[in-house]
Amino acid sequence: IPEYAFIGRSNVGKSSLINMLTDRKSLAKTSGRPGKTQLINHFIINDEWYLVDLPGYGYARVSKTSKKKFQKFITNYFEQRQQLVSAFVLVDIRHKPQTIDLEFMQYLGENGIPFGIIFTKADKLKPNAIDNHVEDYCKELLKTWEELPPYFITSSSKKIGQDDVLNFIDATNEEIEALKKE
Ligand code: GDP
Repeated sequence: IPEYAFIGRSNVGKSSLINMLTDRKSLAKTSGRPGKTQLINHFIINDEWYLVDLPGYGYARVSKTSKKKFQKFITNYFEQRQQLVSAFVLVDIRHKPQTIDLEFMQYLGENGIPFGIIFTKADKLKPNAIDNHVEDYCKELLKTWEELPPYFITSSSKKIGQDDVLNFIDATNEEIEALKKE
């Protein structure tokens, strides 16, 4: 079964996004307190694919040792997952591109792991500000990448972007099925 992994800085809105995508409010608990999602959670969607909830990264106040441990944990995951189709890196649409996110995307690229970007909390910006922020983000990416990854603009509180993400995953799964049949 194909897997899609969701990851981002803690407090980026990952639990809320997963709740929106799975439409089951009780599945991933949201919290105002960063760092609650500690281990990997798997959600099977329509018997067709796995949504993999990876722990958030980039807490300000953790020791070097636990940062190292976390990195090992994440790299182990990415090195071992045969079924992983794509990762989604979540970024708060209000923020300028953050080194930690860009470095993580770099890591994915270097390891041949396809990824998309999910901009979260779009309800917090006016439409023209959304466009500006996304444009700035893309400009930053184009400094190191030849091509832009697929990206999605979402708001879990306003239910924006749900179909965009799910349709992308469905289309990708169909492509995989078609390739298998060839
Ligand atoms: P996680 O740590 O990445 O899992 O983030 P959470 O889903 O727990 O969200 C962190 C905080 O951001 C919570 O206070 C949420 O209510 C808030 N939040 C998450 N998504 C949205 C959104 O789309 N819009 C707004 N306005 N707030 C959000």
